[in-house]
Parts: sequence; C-alpha cells; structure tokens
Amino acid sequence: MNQVTDTLHAHNPLLQVWDANFGLPPFNQIHPAHFIPAFDQAFPQHLAEINSIASLDEPPSFNNTLAEFDSSGRLLERITLLFHNLTASETSDDLRAVQLEMAPRLAAHESTVFMHAELFARIDSLYQRRTELGLAADQLRLLERVHLDFVRAGARLRDHERVRYVEIMSGLASLCTRFSQNILAEEAAYTLPLNGEADLAGLPPFVRDAARSAAQQRGLGPDASVITLSPSLAEPFLTFSDRRDLREALWRARTGRGANAGAHDNRPVIAQIVALRQEQAALHGFNTYADYELVDRMAGQTASVLNLLQQTWEPAKAHAEVDRQALTNMARSLGQPTPIAAWDWRYLAQKVRAQRFDLDDAELKPYFSLDAMIAAMFDCAGRLFGLHFVERKDMALHHADARLWEVRGEDGALVGLFIGDNFARSTKRSGAWMSVFRSQSGHEGGTLPIVINNNNFAKASPTLLSFDDVRTLFHEFGHGLHGLLSNVRYERLAGTQVLRDFVELPSQLFENWALEPQVLQRHARHVETGEPMPAALLEKLKRSRQFDQAWATIQYTGPALIDMALHALPNGTPVDMAAFEAEQARRLGIPQDIGQRHYLSHFQHLFASAGYAAGYYVYMWAEVLEADGFEAFTEAGDAFDAATAQRLLRTIYSSGNTQNPADAYRAFRGRDPRVEPMLHKRGLLAKAAA
Ligand SMILES: [Zn+2]
Repeated sequence: MNQVTDTLHAHNPLLQVWDANFGLPPFNQIHPAHFIPAFDQAFPQHLAEINSIASLDEPPSFNNTLAEFDSSGRLLERITLLFHNLTASETSDDLRAVQLEMAPRLAAHESTVFMHAELFARIDSLYQRRTELGLAADQLRLLERVHLDFVRAGARLRDHERVRYVEIMSGLASLCTRFSQNILAEEAAYTLPLNGEADLAGLPPFVRDAARSAAQQRGLGPDASVITLSPSLAEPFLTFSDRRDLREALWRARTGRGANAGAHDNRPVIAQIVALRQEQAALHGFNTYADYELVDRMAGQTASVLNLLQQTWEPAKAHAEVDRQALTNMARSLGQPTPIAAWDWRYLAQKVRAQRFDLDDAELKPYFSLDAMIAAMFDCAGRLFGLHFVERKDMALHHADARLWEVRGEDGALVGLFIGDNFARSTKRSGAWMSVFRSQSGHEGGTLPIVINNNNFAKASPTLLSFDDVRTLFHEFGHGLHGLLSNVRYERLAGTQVLRDFVELPSQLFENWALEPQVLQRHARHVETGEPMPAALLEKLKRSRQFDQAWATIQYTGPALIDMALHALPNGTPVDMAAFEAEQARRLGIPQDIGQRHYLSHFQHLFASAGYAAGYYVYMWAEVLEADGFEAFTEAGDAFDAATAQRLLRTIYSSGNTQNPADAYRAFRGRDPRVEPMLHKRGLLAKAAA
C-alpha cells in the first residue's frame, strides 16, 4: 500500500470532526481519493440511524420520528455537500471519475432511505393524524413536507415498481452527471483565438484585458488573446466585436455546445433522460412529467405556467418587431448585411443604445469594480438586515480565488460564514449559483450556515463588471442571504429549501438594490479617479435598461415554453431532441435573429439535475412576486424602509419553508401578488394600462 492509501484508512479528514474554523471543511487536507472510502462509511451509518428510528418499540411521535429523521444523516450530508460543491467549483479528472461512480450510488442510497417501508409507515401514521397531534405550525409543515418527500420518492410504490423506480433514479443520476460533464468538457476545450489588431476590432479595453487573461490562464503566450464560452467573456465579445465572422463563429460554438457528434454529444443523453422521467411520472400515476413536478410548486399545474408565460410571449414578439426595425436601420447605416442574424443582435443593440441614450457600456464599467460591488451588496445587507461582514484570510478554501467572510448580526453574534468564488476557470462549471456547505438549523443547539456564491466573472486587475454582472452578483447574494438569515428549527425547512418557484424571490428581489441611487452614489466609484458615478450617467443607465427588453424576454421565455412542451409530452412519447426543438421553435415562432438563451443540448437547468425540469418558468413566476414585492419599499418611500425590511426578514428571508409560500407572501405584502409590475418592468403593458 502506498502512503496515500494508508492515510485514507488511518486518517480520512472527511470522517473526522470538523471543529476548527466554525466547521469549515479542512480543504487543504482533502484529496479526491478520500471520497469513496468516506461515502462507504457514511452510507451504512446513515442507514443505521434510519433503522433505529424505524424499529423503535415506542409508537411514533413527532419527536421520536420526524425530529430524529431531520437530524439524521449529518455525516453523509456534510460529505455530499462538500463533494457537490467541489465538482461544481473546482473539479479535476480524479473528482470527475468519483462523480461518475458515485452519482448512481448516491441516488440508490436516497431511494433506500425514502422507500424504507417501516420508517414510512411511522411517518404516514403521524401524517394521517396530523391535525390531532397538537403540533406547532413549523412542526406540522415539516411533517407534511417530509411525508410528501417520501411519497414523491416512491415510498408508496409496490414491490416490482420499487425495483424499477430505483433503477430509474440511478439511471437519471448517471445521465445527468454525464450531461454536465459533457458541457464542461466542451466549454473547457473551446477557445476563439484572436490574432492581431484585426481580430480585436471594436473591443473595449476591458474585453481585451479579459481575453489576454483567459489566454494566460490557459498557458498560452503573454501576447495571446482568446475568447472562451464563459458568458462574461462571450457576451461582451458578441456585443462589441466589429468582426461579424468571429461573432458568428463564437455564437455557433456557444449555441452548439453539447450538440456536436462525438464523445460529448448530449442529444442522445437528453432523449434517455426524458424517457426515464416519463416512466418515473407514470409510476407515480401522472400523465406527464410536468404534472408530477408541478404538484410540488406554487404554480400547481401546467396551465398556470403557460398562462403566465403567454402573457409575455406575443407582446414581447410584437415589441421586438419595433426594435428589429431600429437594429436593421443601424445595420444599413454601418453597411452591414440585412436581414440581421442572431450574432448581430447584441452588437447592433449596443450601437442603438449608445446612440439613443448617449450611453456606452464601456463608459459604465470603470464604475463597477468587483470589490466595490461586493462592498455595495454587503452595505445593503447591513442597512436592510443589520448584517456585517468581516473577511478572514487565514482559512484555507477550495481555490485561492475564493474569499471568506464571517457574517455577524447587529449584536455582533456570528450568523454564519459566507464564501465568494467569483472568477471563471476551466475547472468550474459555467453560470452563477448559490450553494451551502452546511445549512442552518436548530440541530445540536444551533447550527450556523456556511454559504457559497459562485460567479464566472472574467478575472482581471481590477475586475470590472458590466451592469448585468452586477445584477448577477446581487442575485446570488440574495440567495446567499436566504441561506444566511435562515432562522428555523428543522433543517428540511431551512433557507433556500423552499418550493422551486418561490426560491428565486429573495434573489431577484435583492437585484433591485443594485440600481438604487443611494447605493450607486456611495459605491459605484470610478476605479481610477474614485469619483462617484455622475448622476446623468446613472440616469442614462436607468433609462437605457428599458431598451431591448423584448429581446431579453424572448430569449428567456422561448426556452421556458420549450421546457414545458418537452416535459408535458404524454408518457411514452419518444423524443428526437433536434427535431423536437426545431418543431417547437416553428410552433412558437421564435425569431431566428433572437434565438434562445439556452438550447436543449446545453440546458443545464433541465438536465444537470431535475431541479428546474418543467421549471425554467420559475424565474418569471418569482419575478411577479419580486416586482410586486419591491413596490412595498417604493410605497414606503425608502428602499431601506426599516419596518418593511423587518417584515421582509421575518416573512421571507428568515422563515425558510416554515410557511406555505403564498401565505408567506401575503404576510409580507398584505395581499396576493399582482402581475402588472412585472409586465411593466419588462415594458410589456399596453400603453393604456401603463
Ligand atoms: Zn437564482
């Protein structure tokens, strides 16, 4: 046995108590080879805990069954969360191999737990008597939630169905892992090299810096420049590059991710995922997978989702026609070909925006340095919720770019830990997300959350953000606050563990403060001169944000409608992904010069896990709540109104899943949400109604 193997058995850091650094994982001691031996111990330990609950002689009670179940499996959970965070933020060949092996085993373990007949019998007997048990509101909510978790994981299935169900869930776990790994491989492999000034034409300094920095990170020469598929590099390139041929090449590479023949082709993977999901829904007695998913959402049914999406779809297409005319005129004036193509839209829109609003995105960027915007979001969290953030540089993290802050409340007491991992790299998946290493709960006298936000900004010195990047930063921090401010007894109800179409409310709501003049005046300072952003520039930024909203709405709503169409196919319908997507684009009339924010072959929301399957709509659903909700501050006359912020904290940010989300919203707003503020924000209200 070599030394590594000996160490694995003698001292596996994943199996030790993590008592240093407030329970932060000991990152610098962890090796990919530690994971499988740790899982091999954590699975049986969890099952032993479950068995001891299930085999109690005493009749079931809330405490001896539900509370115990909520506290069980902490070792496995700690290892699993760390593992998922590492495979997303800082993966490696070794971790990818472990991931492929563990995905079906983790799914099988989950099935074993949630199909435990004796345990479910105890939970079900409590559930049947739930109104007679004298439970507190959060306890009743936990009982209902856990009961539904068991039912949705197949606890009521009969013998032969159970066997098949476990196979389906393991198969889906493997396929979803394969899907994500294919995307990461295609993104890591692609670069668009920029050779010489001719290839750099039109690019402002920040894009040139980021392209050089991306080349350096890939070990290319000091003079090399490349564009990668990372949105914070690809988006500005599509916006500014004068080179139509290069824009087209990048656009095709980006939209084609996962749809290239060969080892990383996601098209057959998707067909298999959809087939297994249909079979899963059928075993639960639903006609479609969407029906199965929507039972556990605020929306409740497919029709409610389509009703919302359709309120924006046709109006957005009509508005886009007006914008298209302006863009076409711009193309003609620049001597560029018409009709315009999808790789022209951002570029021409930027030209029109600059002309119409006298605003150049490159003029804004020096005011949005990453460090200043981090300070801005912390400031907002302080003014709204009394939090303050103290950076700690003495704790090892998973990557040198990640930073850690202690989060403290008004009284100075520790609330949790916050990790910000903001830069793109080839070992990190694309997109932006919040996750946890540990959830808040009342477990062991009070367990504090350890929250991580990931972004994929192009690293530069200093790193300058676009306003969209700033919104993303605030968005993820909104999720982060939902995790940090959580104040509940039971972990299953903590923080972001709410219904999927409610979870984007705290995040999208928080984006509003990024545009608040009080915040920008204080924090949006020119990176070289330190001058605050001129009021006129801020005003131009605000006015220009109304422009091109139809494009953004179509880019988002098209994929949301395709997601619903795909997952609402009757069970047993085979899918040829490419043909299906093309047919849907025709049916919906998706404008070819706008296209889709996500195409199926790389639509991670749908296929990296089941999280957002039949659920891409949730952003718009939550936007209805968010746009209506923020008006509570507008009505109070102050974006930091103390009473409104307190109510928001109590009903939304700290309450996790202890209430039905519709009730939680009503407790905040005093009424049900109205859709008009969202339509207004997107510029889609008919003039008469606006
Ligand atoms: Zn989000």
